[in-house]
Amino acid sequence: MSDEGEGEGDGEEHENGVVDVDEYEDVWVFIEEHDGEVMSVSWELLAEARTLADELGDDLVALAIGEGLDDVAEQALERGADRVLVADDPVFEPYRADPYGEQFRAIVEERKPSIVLIGGTHTGRDFAGRVAVPAHAGLTADVTELGVDEDGLLEARRPAFGGNVLATILCEEHRPQMATIRPGVFEAADPDGEADGEIVEVDVVVEDDDCVSEVLEREVGDTADITEADRIVAVGHGIDGDLEPARQLADALDAEIAASRAAVDEGWVDGARQVGQTGKTVRPELYVAVGISGAVQHLEGMNKSETVVAINNDPNAPIFEHADYGIVADLFDACPDLAEELEGVTE
Ligand code: FAD
Repeated sequence: MSDEGEGEGDGEEHENGVVDVDEYEDVWVFIEEHDGEVMSVSWELLAEARTLADELGDDLVALAIGEGLDDVAEQALERGADRVLVADDPVFEPYRADPYGEQFRAIVEERKPSIVLIGGTHTGRDFAGRVAVPAHAGLTADVTELGVDEDGLLEARRPAFGGNVLATILCEEHRPQMATIRPGVFEAADPDGEADGEIVEVDVVVEDDDCVSEVLEREVGDTADITEADRIVAVGHGIDGDLEPARQLADALDAEIAASRAAVDEGWVDGARQVGQTGKTVRPELYVAVGISGAVQHLEGMNKSETVVAINNDPNAPIFEHADYGIVADLFDACPDLAEELEGVTE
């Protein structure tokens, strides 16, 4: 797939947003932080973008928006950024889409990045369109693979048509080439302790009076983000609507609950906790699959977990082929027994 347009190469921006692509350079990654805490997807993207930038001979630029970002900027340099652009101002706390979107848009317009990668979090998906639409940029959402083609174009790949095909999306004539990326699909690189690049404070272009939204109150609901969890107990159709045994095990392990699509479709677990091709990609230290058969679409979302334990009463269930430890047992017995054994053992 590719976008459409005319007039490439003459240096002027046309009505339909076609631009001189040669004016655009560098690979940008948005560093998302809340209360000083950086979302791990930002570090995952920085590591992946380092490879893309090296392939293209471009600089890797991190962009952070928020308040009190000195530490965040240092961390971005230690994790491989050549340059960190920082928009530091109280107007950006707490997060609102309009000041973030407007600030991001202004920096993009001024500095002309070729590629912009944003984590596909609630925040990233909320404001990415506010940057892409005025720039007439190509924005590919929920990307799971990235590459560069022989012409140096970003190849953004994502499941399409209900996950039945993997589409490669190119943006030939518009810039920047933007994508929101699913958390958990890339591995974050460890900081190397060297921060050789530069930190650039950019002009803050928004004021509180310009913002159309105001945060009156923040209510915290089920904010669990399974992509950030170190331990996961995932339930499948085998639980037959009874979450309690798996919850006991999750409590004993201090783990988050996740689910297969079958369990989500039944309404037993919230869709935000679905693992797999059409759900989330996780890579925890420990993944316990409870009453999950191990369909290929499920495996796609969890096969990078460090240690996999499967509990299933069918010894021929495919999940056992992908598990480090298999327990052939009725989950209604095995989960409470394990929970009891583990009480007091885990931190
Ligand atoms: P089942 O396949 O029904 O397995 C239930 C398991 O529980 C069985 O192995 C059974 O032996 C075991 N069991 C039953 N009772 C007990 C008991 N008492 N004790 C112990 N074990 C027990 N699926 C996903 O998970 N995520 C996705 O993102 C996803 N995307 C999809 C996208 C597409 C395009 C398609 C076509 C499918 C997708 N699916 C996805 C669905 C996938 O193909 C499977 O249907 C689904 O993963 C099956 O879920 P399950 O393992 O919970 O259920």
